Amino acid sequence: MSINIPTSALTIGIDIGGSKVLGGVVDSNGKIIDLARRPTPASGGQELVATIIDLIKEFQVIYKIAGIGISVAALISKDQGIIVGAPNIANLSQLNFVAELERVFNLPVIVENDANAAMWAEYKSGNAQGLNPVIFFIIGTGMGGGLVVDGKLFKGANGIGAEFGHMIVQPNGLKCGCGAFGCIEQYASGSALMRYAKEGIAADPSQGKELLSLCEGDLAQLTGTVLTQAAKNGNQLAISAFNKQADWLGSACASYTLLLDPQAIVVGGGVVEAGELFLAPVRSAMERYMPFAGTHLLPRIIAAKHGNNAGLIGVADLVRG
Ligand SMILES: [Zn+2]
Repeated sequence: MSINIPTSALTIGIDIGGSKVLGGVVDSNGKIIDLARRPTPASGGQELVATIIDLIKEFQVIYKIAGIGISVAALISKDQGIIVGAPNIANLSQLNFVAELERVFNLPVIVENDANAAMWAEYKSGNAQGLNPVIFFIIGTGMGGGLVVDGKLFKGANGIGAEFGHMIVQPNGLKCGCGAFGCIEQYASGSALMRYAKEGIAADPSQGKELLSLCEGDLAQLTGTVLTQAAKNGNQLAISAFNKQADWLGSACASYTLLLDPQAIVVGGGVVEAGELFLAPVRSAMERYMPFAGTHLLPRIIAAKHGNNAGLIGVADLVRG
């Protein structure tokens, strides 16, 4: 369905995560007017559709809504909005959110990959404004990617474009959630950071004591936030884990730079908590690994503006067309 949505109208953005569904009513400046959350139903599929329909109906009691955008960690077909691959949420394969929701609401509906949606939020109202081309990474448990070229989200021929997290950097390396081996996600994501820290503790238990004490001796409780704080306090093991992650990401940034010549690379997701502690070594690694070094300008590497709400802000704007 294609309807021109007036600038003054409000739209809804829904971000489907592995554990929660986040919904927001958003204005045309990307400002969230209202926010609600629900747990993601474990059975996914139709129960998830029902959860989203309830959430939207609750918003509609209070607000006049002109469109609905759905952001989800999945590969989505370019033409019909059908989910073609969603490793983290049950029973989404072949689901058509657009058809399911248009049937109920008689409003324009779009569905978009979560990293693409977050990229768009940064481009429209965040730290990627005015940059062309601009690359975005969202680094949490995994590593998502987005790309804007000439003011448009780049999706490739079939809609799966700009999955920067799945560039293979280590043939026959660690198995990735996508089914391939050796993707950069396995070396530069938040999960990789935790692995580096745990390996560091195992290799040098005496040096690892301080980190272990921060999670009450239980490695399962070692989180990115704990590690970030430890690194900020000068813990060498934590700093070294961040440096390893940054080194991998920096080397990938060197490749992406030669492929796409971006004006900037915007980094979002949980890793942004670490700020310059992470971004500074990414920049220096990128310079160190850069092909044709010294012959071309390098992209800026900057932190994203929007936090966990980036996906819903972006997709609420994308439905405006
Ligand atoms: Zn992969």
